[in-house]
Amino acid sequence: MKSTKKDIRALTKEQLRDFFISKGDKAFRGNQVYEWLWSKSAYTFEAMTNLSKATREMLQEHFVINHIEVDDMQRSKDGTVKNAVRLHDGLVVESVLIPTETRTTACVSSQVGCSLDCKFCATARLKRMRNLNADEIYDQVAAINKESLLYYNRKLSNIVFMGMGEPLMNYNNVIKSIEKITSDEGLGMSPKRITLSTSGVPKMIKKMADDEVKFNLAVSLHSAIDEKRTQIMPFNATFPLEELKGALQYWYQKTQRRITYEYVVWGGINDQKEDIEALIQFCKYVPCKVNLIEYNPIDDGAFQQADEHAINNYISNLEMHGIVVNVRRSRGKDIDAACGQLANKS
Ligand code: SAH
Repeated sequence: MKSTKKDIRALTKEQLRDFFISKGDKAFRGNQVYEWLWSKSAYTFEAMTNLSKATREMLQEHFVINHIEVDDMQRSKDGTVKNAVRLHDGLVVESVLIPTETRTTACVSSQVGCSLDCKFCATARLKRMRNLNADEIYDQVAAINKESLLYYNRKLSNIVFMGMGEPLMNYNNVIKSIEKITSDEGLGMSPKRITLSTSGVPKMIKKMADDEVKFNLAVSLHSAIDEKRTQIMPFNATFPLEELKGALQYWYQKTQRRITYEYVVWGGINDQKEDIEALIQFCKYVPCKVNLIEYNPIDDGAFQQADEHAINNYISNLEMHGIVVNVRRSRGKDIDAACGQLANKS
């Protein structure tokens, strides 16, 4: 049953301090509770052991602690870990821990389902059920940080917003979560190690630039030809490439930070010379690099990864034009944890 008590994590530190003052207690009690809730990720009032029993009971009377629950955890042969995360209202999202030799990356979700309709992505089929709040995003990161310590004996080093959902369609909560992740009262991570990946919502890319965010930007491009991009990412009809280009130039002008383009090459879709030429042209607009992502099949085979020849063609032509290109192998495919495969199958 859903509680009618207020979620204590919706309170700012100042509000918590005021609450204790209103109860005739000391303001610093608010700081203590805040620390428990955030940097220590306490999910019960009992766990807050430096508070008196009476204080803990008083909190219990007034508040609940809404938090995520890692319902199910799968480990891939390659070390990737996928969490099925249950939210307080019973909905489920997925997040992924991706280890390499030197790093642990968390791939987190920003929405339950997705607002967009990319034809090659399993999450799109779920449609958008709701936005995650900032705490739910933060909790995914905190949970993966714990798993990283447990399994790899090191802290989480990087975060990518490449799980379920379109982060720029849930902007305020994503920004709030990043503020907490990067603050010393949260996880104290550097924004330079965080990448937000978007399908490209021009207005919001400009807003991020105006807000002077310090994290990195990746754009899921997949085609630099409008008609083709609209076929595979229908929202491109609303936000065509010309507008995207304008927003990216604005971003670069304000932030001076290079953009990453994510790009999958599919056989019979974007594997021709004209596709490569259009991409090279698009790459001239702002300093950037291209990540060629391996396709993770989601179903019947309407989309198929292009053959090696086509991929090599991309690589050699991009490099010939001085464009930095990386090939990104999929991780966690055996547990449906790879890009575009997050769809709550279990
Ligand atoms: N909505 C955001 C973030 C989530 S998708 C975005 O579009 O960027 C994260 C990345 O996975 C995107 O680059 C997306 O294009 C890619 N992706 C989606 N489905 C995929 C699939 N089946 N195989 C490989 N990559 C996929």
